Amino acid sequence: MKQFIYFTVLLLMTACAAKTDRNINSVLWVQTAAEYQANCYQAYNTALLSIETAIADNRWTGALEQTNDFSDLPPAVIFDLDETVLDNSAYQAKLALEGSGFQLSSWDQWIGMQQAGSIAGAVVFINYIQNQGIEVIFISNRECRKRDNASSLCPQEADTIENLNTIGITGITEKNVLLKHEYMDWGSEKKSRREYIVEKYRVLMIFGDDLGDFIPGVKKEITPEKRKETAAIYNHNWGTKWFIISNPMYGSWRQILKTPRHRYLQGLPENNHP
Ligand SMILES: [Mg+2]
Repeated sequence: MKQFIYFTVLLLMTACAAKTDRNINSVLWVQTAAEYQANCYQAYNTALLSIETAIADNRWTGALEQTNDFSDLPPAVIFDLDETVLDNSAYQAKLALEGSGFQLSSWDQWIGMQQAGSIAGAVVFINYIQNQGIEVIFISNRECRKRDNASSLCPQEADTIENLNTIGITGITEKNVLLKHEYMDWGSEKKSRREYIVEKYRVLMIFGDDLGDFIPGVKKEITPEKRKETAAIYNHNWGTKWFIISNPMYGSWRQILKTPRHRYLQGLPENNHP
């Protein structure tokens, strides 16, 4: 009997925890707050301030992996896609409303719908640099997965290009879009794809919503403190070469936290029990 009560209480606690962790506040901020929108404009507008210098200075690179002789390479800018250029908050809102979690199958369905919106400021900025002759490269963890009844090994690539067209980003071909698992060594760690790009281009800037879009080795088996230290090491790059879009909904910042996550909340000293 005692055991039964214990398990019932445990089940109730788990159910309550799941209900209170439905990401509602985060998705609301992205979908309704002018403050979020202003944050996105701020990132893209700030980039406009240094783009001319970046183009003119052939010693300028924004990629840590760019250690080759890059001065004569054509210029490119690297963008992450989701929550950097494409707005998938409708998918996140669906999960929040249903009380369900991320699943590759529902995410792939969403990609196939080609309904993602645009992040404020992204389309204007990308069109601007395209007109300057700068190559636009997308490094995304949208994953190449064969779908039932489809002949393509990576239908996600065509879906993504079509979705980009819909929001006003044109002239994008498959060579501009580097998806996860498109090649064997292209895993969710983006370092190998940046290494591939720096061989062909001088990378002027990087745009992303996750520390891993800029820096290798920050997406797993790392503490929040260590990630903050790493971000601080590159303090001078933020806002000059690297531009980050806020994403409170998901990301490696959240993935690296062990559950229960409330253990990371730092209250007043009297609240902090071991
Ligand atoms: Mg992203």
